[in-house]
Amino acid sequence: MKDCIFCKIAAGEIPATKIYENGSFFSIPDKNPKTKGHSLVISKKHFETVLDLNSTLGSELIDCIKGTIMKLMKAENFDGFNVINNNFEAAGQIVKHFHVHIIPRIKDDGLEIIA
Ligand code: 5GP
Ligand code: ZN
Repeated sequence: MKDCIFCKIAAGEIPATKIYENGSFFSIPDKNPKTKGHSLVISKKHFETVLDLNSTLGSELIDCIKGTIMKLMKAENFDGFNVINNNFEAAGQIVKHFHVHIIPRIKDDGLEIIA
């Protein structure tokens, strides 16, 4: 979609270092990381929210989330991680192209996550 930053990254028009990728999703480091290793799993096609994804994409989405976390675990030390997906503005979605945040956590790091 025109003027969508994640579509441009998906198309290779804006360079980004991919952490993991499969047929339908890829992951990259977040440009404003909330913790060390904060990454985004992004759909290759433009979907606005999780409601727009066909359920058949579920296994590839989980594969990309897990593959990304495994890669991060090899590079960084962390004790846990949050997997977060914001949908619509009221829930904090700024980029209107489906993505999932993976936020590595260290015990007592003080980061406040709403859930
Ligand atoms: P949202 O609030 O929409 O769930 O989060 C969007 C995320 O995308 C934010 O954490 C923001 O830092 C990240 N982001 C926005 N533009 C870019 C970009 O051009 N490159 C990367 N790597 N991350 C981006
Ligand atoms: Zn897009």
